[in-house]
Amino acid sequence: MKILVLNCGSSSIKYKLFDIDSKTTLGQGGVEKVGMTDSFLKHETPSGEKIVLQKEILEHGAGIAFILETLTSKEYGGISSLQEINAIGHRVVHGGEKFNKSVLITDEVIKNIEACIDIAPLHNPPNLAGIRAMAKLIPGVPQVAVFDTTFHQTMPPHAYLYGIPYTLYKKYGIRRYGFHGTSHRYVSRRACEILNVKYETQKIISLHIGNGASATAIAYGKVIDTSLGFTPIEGLLMGTRCGDLDIGAATYLMDKENLDTKAASDLLNKQSGLLGLSEASSDMRDLEKAASEGNLQAQTALEVFAYRIKKYIGAYAAALGGLDVLIFTGGIGENSWGTRSAVCKDMEFFDIEIDETKNDGLRGKETVISPKSRRVKVIVVPTDEEFMIAEDTLKNVTRF
Ligand code: AMP
Repeated sequence: MKILVLNCGSSSIKYKLFDIDSKTTLGQGGVEKVGMTDSFLKHETPSGEKIVLQKEILEHGAGIAFILETLTSKEYGGISSLQEINAIGHRVVHGGEKFNKSVLITDEVIKNIEACIDIAPLHNPPNLAGIRAMAKLIPGVPQVAVFDTTFHQTMPPHAYLYGIPYTLYKKYGIRRYGFHGTSHRYVSRRACEILNVKYETQKIISLHIGNGASATAIAYGKVIDTSLGFTPIEGLLMGTRCGDLDIGAATYLMDKENLDTKAASDLLNKQSGLLGLSEASSDMRDLEKAASEGNLQAQTALEVFAYRIKKYIGAYAAALGGLDVLIFTGGIGENSWGTRSAVCKDMEFFDIEIDETKNDGLRGKETVISPKSRRVKVIVVPTDEEFMIAEDTLKNVTRF
């Protein structure tokens, strides 16, 4: 059984081809700069060779066709024909309230994904473009949608409702949905495997901290709260997204700067967060370097970033009524020991502590970084959303 996993973003398409039987990868990579003239494909062959192929890719269909060409090419591919692909798993960002699990894609499912475009205008359209392109390029091959939102569907109303008139929730579906669900699901299960504890017995806070960032509270295998909300802007500070913000400040700014909704959305989604605060970069590596060279504004941005995460840990520990496992994942969570250290500083009263001899220099490796003496296990788990999507795809296609 061979499963192709696709993650179509607005200007990128990531892919990974799994051979489920031999548990190997038959090629992976991504097209970047879709829609621009200088687009290219980065590909890793089954033997691990890394190549870059330049090609103008103006839309997702062309990008996916290029990926399939590469995967079946004599030189770089892992399969000899498209007929070898048995199923396709798609990351779909927003499933609204409709989906509480991954599903086989039908016309009805496509309609429901379309219905969520309004609330995920940047994400659902490219996801749909990927689904449609695959249906054209290899018709008849089953496709499965794995939503970022489904893992969070166990949240109780007191966690997902906002304090607005209930009729507006009913009318427009305005509530907390949460995102990064596939990542939180993967790392929380994997952490329990590594720690050799039963998933259903643990109180977990999972921190997915990358360019986008979210914290999720998981009690006995079920999400009870998460920091991203109706759209992926709420909660933690992010690369370019502001995270929690007084709504009054947003409307005040719209008045003062004469911003329409699009301009306000751009300001808060694309020019804020680490980038906005530091006025230097949205990238953690750049900011850590700048701060170490004495850039005080970059240092302040890093402090806001870590402080916000720490606050969420406190809130979620209270919501969970205790804590057993604290997980760091995502590009920053996996690689930035400085961030992990700042987040966990002075948290001994929660029985949270980091052993700096384990944390210092640790990048992208499954490792327990708390000392044995502390009750809360702090653990770094590199995320693997593609693996989760492949697993869900397999479950959905073998059910029939
Ligand atoms: P993601 O969105 O999960 O790919 O994460 C991207 C973020 O991870 C960027 O802010 C990167 O700067 C950060 N990151 C990646 N590698 C490192 C590293 N070695 N040290 C610090 N931050 C890193």
